[in-house]
Amino acid sequence: MEIIHSIAEMTATSRQMRQAGSTIALVPTMGFFHEGHLQLMRFGRQRADRLVVSLFVNPIQFGPNEDLQRYPRDFGRDATLAEQERVDVLFAPDSREMYGPEFQTRITVEHLTAPLCGGQRPGHFDGVTTVVAKLFNIVHPHSAIFGEKDFQQLVVIRRMVDDLNFDITILGHVIVREHDGLAMSSRNSYLSPDERQSALCLYESLQLARHMVSAGEVDVDRLLKEILARMQSYPGVTVDYVAVVDQATLQEKKKVDRSAILAMAVRVGATRLIDNGRLC
Ligand code: AMP
Repeated sequence: MEIIHSIAEMTATSRQMRQAGSTIALVPTMGFFHEGHLQLMRFGRQRADRLVVSLFVNPIQFGPNEDLQRYPRDFGRDATLAEQERVDVLFAPDSREMYGPEFQTRITVEHLTAPLCGGQRPGHFDGVTTVVAKLFNIVHPHSAIFGEKDFQQLVVIRRMVDDLNFDITILGHVIVREHDGLAMSSRNSYLSPDERQSALCLYESLQLARHMVSAGEVDVDRLLKEILARMQSYPGVTVDYVAVVDQATLQEKKKVDRSAILAMAVRVGATRLIDNGRLC
């Protein structure tokens, strides 16, 4: 596995791969790999001749009071895991390489970034779309893989790719969960044992909603009332949002149908966690 820190070198390497007739898949990450990241890599490995994984904790997608400084990092461990997954290139630029002193451009996807996480993390999705567009231009992949755990992010990136005519196929990967249902996340490492128990409120709320829907409930207000009551029964949990939205437009729905996604964000102690899933 090659480890590349420079943009020029990454672009040259990717150009050589293309000239040799290889297809390239890109998995963008912020590192501190868990099984979710590794499954995305395996998926990418199957989809293309060459697999590039980017590892960059992107400062411009963090708000001023968010966890940029304490975001977990372990480059040595990540490099070993990526190598085991037969990653061809681990692209790990630093912030100065990605954002020079004159940097002043942002890509904004408008309406899809307004609800859900967009409402609570101003500027977050601009940071995501800007860095992803840069990675696409640097790596020039044929396909790129994103997890459905960050469901709104996936919808926003698909919109950007369509709107800006990137010639890249965006592939979503299902959410990878721990044995008890907690969606894997680098941020789970922040949780104390008690908080780890309370973090189950997300998956258990999703299961509760699915049970209600399979028993015939279609009214979103009634579903949300039950879910909020359930969430409040977990110690240390503050709900940021719980919503049933259309999977394409992210607009709130009144009735559950096949296009409905339950989207949730909570704080467990100081840790913000998200989850989502279909209801039928
Ligand atoms: P991150 O390093 O957290 O920015 O995540 C990098 C990529 O992995 C993103 O596309 C995430 O959506 C995806 N990802 C993170 N956790 C999971 C998970 N539990 N299941 C599926 N994909 C995930």
